[in-house]
Amino acid sequence: MSELRKDLVSGRWVIIATERSKRPDDFRPASEARPASEPGGFCPFCESSESKTPPEVFALRAEGTRPDTPGWRVRVVPNKFPALNRGTPPPKFTRGVLQWMEGIGVHEVVIENPDHAKELADLSVPHVRDVLWVYQQRIKAIEEELHYQYVQVFKNKGKEAGASLSHPHSQIVATPIVPKRVKEEIYGADRLSRSCKECVFCRTIREEAAAGERLVHKNSHFGIFTPFASRFPFEMAVYPLRHSPFFTDLREEELGILAGTMKAVLTKLKQTLGDPPFNLVLHQAPNPSLSHKTWPDIDRNFHWHFEVFPILTKMAGFEWGTGYHINPVSPETAATFLKFEGPA
Ligand SMILES: [Zn+2]
Ligand SMILES: [Zn+2]
Ligand SMILES: [Zn+2]
Repeated sequence: MSELRKDLVSGRWVIIATERSKRPDDFRPASEARPASEPGGFCPFCESSESKTPPEVFALRAEGTRPDTPGWRVRVVPNKFPALNRGTPPPKFTRGVLQWMEGIGVHEVVIENPDHAKELADLSVPHVRDVLWVYQQRIKAIEEELHYQYVQVFKNKGKEAGASLSHPHSQIVATPIVPKRVKEEIYGADRLSRSCKECVFCRTIREEAAAGERLVHKNSHFGIFTPFASRFPFEMAVYPLRHSPFFTDLREEELGILAGTMKAVLTKLKQTLGDPPFNLVLHQAPNPSLSHKTWPDIDRNFHWHFEVFPILTKMAGFEWGTGYHINPVSPETAATFLKFEGPA
């Protein structure tokens, strides 16, 4: 069982996850380490290996096919080595200056398609739509259990981005506390929305679209730009033009347009940078039951979005020490390479 521990001074929570018990040997540089189990062939996420994962919790599959058999388009399974495990609301323990709780949470894997070689960018728009729809369904289902305060959907593509298996997949981790990073966005948005007299995200995308120098693409429903203070080279933000704090509020027709938009964004990233490792994260308001109680203005002030960043630089001493990022590519330059027209 893992544990959530709080660093009192910074207010940061850390997950001590012992499911995959590591020894110093496991952390040696790749050249010395024992060969990884995967390049050699076997992949538990490929079609016909369904029995090699924990039983599926959700799948989009052909009519008449049984769970945990071939015939699926998108399949969701619990992570075999979860950072957090499902359970009842964990009590918080305190001893002296130490604070911790049992590592209760959800950790699922969304296997985006049965074909090992097809990345999200390579899938058809309807298939990408299915993946996004599955995100929505899992978020809604997990949020029914009120003690899961925040559901984080993310994707690690490539070893450098943290993916341990190369079969295209995303992950969902729900935590019993709202992450510090998300709280910073909520409080920042609250404060700025008061001075802007409107949602600061709505204002940002409107101003970025008007200025144009960081705008990557805009269509009827979404705007993509390289953030003014981008932390990473070629970082992008994807904002819905219709204000909403919850990704789960996205309507059927918007989901199709988002699918086309995300496919285009990821394709452009792939073409521009030669299939780089990247992270994709979804930021949305925490579990609605908690959000509305804790942040009464959240419906007005928060605005869900995706952040996408290729992994081209490493966090180093200065970044860890200060929280500053040094970005060697200006977002204005990045935008000139990433801009695209059509399709959505
Ligand atoms: Zn595979
Ligand atoms: Zn907004
Ligand atoms: Zn964000």
